[in-house]
Amino acid sequence: MSNVVIIGGGHAGANIAFALRKDGFKGSIDIISNESFLPYHRPPLSKDFLKRNIEIEKLAFKSEDFYVDQDISVHLSTQVDSINKTSMKVKTKDSSFAFDYLVFATGASPRLFSMPNADAKNLFYLRQINDVLDIHKKLDSAKEIVLIGGGYIGLEVASAMIELGLKVTILESEDRILKRVTSPELSSFYDNFHQDKGVKILCNVEITQFIGDSSAITGVELESGERISTDIVLAGIGVVPNTDLAETMGLECDNGIKTDQFCRTSFPNILAAGDCTSSFNVLLNKSLRLESVPNALGQAKVVSSSIVGNDLFNSEIPWFWSDQYDLKLQMAGLSMGHDDSYILGDIESAEFLACYGKDGYLIAVDSVNQAKQFMLFKRALNNGYKLEMEQIKDKNFQPQSIFSSSN
Ligand SMILES: Cc1cc2nc3c(=O)[nH]c(=O)nc-3n(C[C@H](O)[C@H](O)[C@H](O)COP(=O)(O)OP(=O)(O)OC[C@H]3O[C@@H](n4cnc5c(N)ncnc54)[C@H](O)[C@@H]3O)c2cc1C
Repeated sequence: MSNVVIIGGGHAGANIAFALRKDGFKGSIDIISNESFLPYHRPPLSKDFLKRNIEIEKLAFKSEDFYVDQDISVHLSTQVDSINKTSMKVKTKDSSFAFDYLVFATGASPRLFSMPNADAKNLFYLRQINDVLDIHKKLDSAKEIVLIGGGYIGLEVASAMIELGLKVTILESEDRILKRVTSPELSSFYDNFHQDKGVKILCNVEITQFIGDSSAITGVELESGERISTDIVLAGIGVVPNTDLAETMGLECDNGIKTDQFCRTSFPNILAAGDCTSSFNVLLNKSLRLESVPNALGQAKVVSSSIVGNDLFNSEIPWFWSDQYDLKLQMAGLSMGHDDSYILGDIESAEFLACYGKDGYLIAVDSVNQAKQFMLFKRALNNGYKLEMEQIKDKNFQPQSIFSSSN
C-alpha cells in the first residue's frame, strides 16, 4: 500500500486527505503542518473571527475524532525542513516520513516590509490564527489603525475595524484600491462605500517612515510629508508562494510550483495544490497561480484523482468571494484584458453585476449582493457557454434565460 505525505495542513492539504479517503485510497496519509491548530477555515480570520463573532473551535474543518476515524495522521507544529528525493523521505526536526507520493500544499506567506521599525510589536500581517490572536491583544486598547494595502485583506479588515469603532486609514500605493483584481468601476464602488462608512483611503502614496521604535510604531510618514498617527499597523501587501523547499529539490517553479492540469509537478509522484502552485487550467488554456479557497478545494480533488488513477483535471473557472460590511462580492472568471464592461442592476443600491467582455463575449463577472444571478453566470462561464455582451446589454435580458437561450 502507498504512503502519501502532504506538506501543509491548510485548505488544500486537508482537503487532499479528505478527497483521498472519499476516492477509496487505502494507504497511509500524513499531513505535516507547521501550525499548531487542526486544519481550519482561513477566510473568517479577516471577518467574523477578527471581530470575535465566532469562537476559535468553530474554525476547524473537522474534529480530532474525524481524523482518527479516517486514519489520517496530522502532525501539528512540525516543519518539513528537507526532502530527499532519492530515498523518497521527508525530514522534520525529529522525524522522517517515507513517501510514495508527496504533495506540496505549502500555501503562501505574507509579503513583508523591510524598513526601519518594521519589526515593531504593533505591525501585523494576517495569515494564521496566531496572527489574529496577537492582533486581539492590541485591539482592546486601540483607537486608530493604519492598513497598508487596499486589496481584499485591507478592505475586509477595514470593514471589521469600522464595526469595532476604530478610526481607519487605508494606504494604497496604486492609483486605486483592488487594482490587481478588478475593474475601475468596482474599485470606485468599494472606495465610495468604505469612505461613506468613515474609512479614509489614500491612493498613490508611498510610505517613507514608520515613526516610533521597534517596540511600537506611533505613526506612518508618507512621501508627501503627511503623518498619520496610529495604534496598530496591519500590512496586507500581497503574498509570496511558499516554494523554497520545492526549489531546493529542483522542482520547476515560476511564481509557484509548476504543475500540469493533473497537478503533477516536474518530478514523478510529486504533486502540488493551492496557493503555492502555478497550474495549467484546461478551460483557460494557460497556467496561473490563484489565491482562493475554491482553487485549493478544486485542486485537492484533482490531486487525489491523480493518485488513485482517475482522470479529473483543472478545468474550473477561477472564482472568489469577499465579505465587507453587508456586501457580498463574488467574482468569476478573469476580467484582466476585457475590452467591454456593463453594469447589470443598480450600483446605487449595491445590488448589481459587473459583466466583462472581450471580443463581444462575456469573460468574467463581479457580483455585489446578487448571489443567485451570480451562480447562473458562473455556471455559464464554467460550462464554456459563449454569452454575447450585446445579449446581456439588451434591456429585456434576464440571467434566468441564460440556459434556455444558449446553445
Ligand atoms: C485572512 C484571509 C482571508 C481570506 N479570505 C478568503 C475569502 O474570503 N475567499 C477565498 O476564496 N479565499 C480567501 N483567502 C485565501 C485562502 O484562504 C487561500 O487561498 C487558501 O487558504 C489557500 O489554501 P492552501 O492550502 O493553498 O494554503 P494555506 O491555507 O495557506 O495552507 C498552507 C499551510 O502549509 C503550511 N506550511 C508551509 N510550509 C510548510 C512546511 N515546510 N512544513 C509544514 N507546513 C508548512 C503553512 O503554514 C500553512 O498552514 C483568505 C486568506 C486569508 C489569509
